[in-house]
Amino acid sequence: MCRHLAYLGPPVTLRELLLDPPHSLLRQSWAPRDMRGGGTVNADGFGVGWYPDGGGAPVRYRRAQPIWSDPTIAGLAAVTSAGAVLAAVRSATVGMPVVDAAAAPFAEGRWLFSHNGVVRGWPDSMVPLAAALPVRDLLTLDASTDSALLWALVRDRLRAGLGPARAVAETVTAVAAAAPGSRLNLLLTDGHTVVANAAGHALSLRAAPVSVLLASEPHDDEPGWREVPEGQLVAATATEVRQRPLAAW
Ligand code: GLN
Repeated sequence: MCRHLAYLGPPVTLRELLLDPPHSLLRQSWAPRDMRGGGTVNADGFGVGWYPDGGGAPVRYRRAQPIWSDPTIAGLAAVTSAGAVLAAVRSATVGMPVVDAAAAPFAEGRWLFSHNGVVRGWPDSMVPLAAALPVRDLLTLDASTDSALLWALVRDRLRAGLGPARAVAETVTAVAAAAPGSRLNLLLTDGHTVVANAAGHALSLRAAPVSVLLASEPHDDEPGWREVPEGQLVAATATEVRQRPLAAW
């Protein structure tokens, strides 16, 4: 399983967000605390997406290698600041390809997406849901992974006009029904709003007056973190957090 995080707030460097904290995403790649039995390290790739100053679509950097062995990320992270970031480190599910394009964040337009978990019975359990997607979407999946298909399912709902919370909630509900026992922690942002749910994996939230951080694991021992209970979905901006059970969105 992976570890992921999203941040909205005053600009910070990627280094401050991903590398420097005592239990940073970098550290979680080799010493995660709370994988709930889903793997041990997150060494099959990583990715970060951020929104450049002045607006526009997010920029991504994704690699199919451990974040600790990448020669570029430290320098890039030191000089890159953003007020909206989504990042992930990946532990590939057995049988799924380890390629750059299988690392989150997945993206379209302003959207960035990540999945922490696994779809049980892959790929057979997903055939009915996949069959309802446009053929073109299936031909252009980022990778033949459960996470890439989940992104296609969420994106299909966004394109149909659903809001991000509803798009995530409906997708989780549909996939959980088709593939019981799946772990489906999803994370979605457009740089202004972030949506995250807890379904089978850990999720923590730290909200400050003008920033919000949602992460698989707290990245430090500072006060302010709270765990998002199983079954809940959070939709937040930098200044407002709303949390309800999945079915209530
Ligand atoms: N099933 C995911 C994959 O292989 C597992 C990684 C994760 O937790 N996102 O890409």
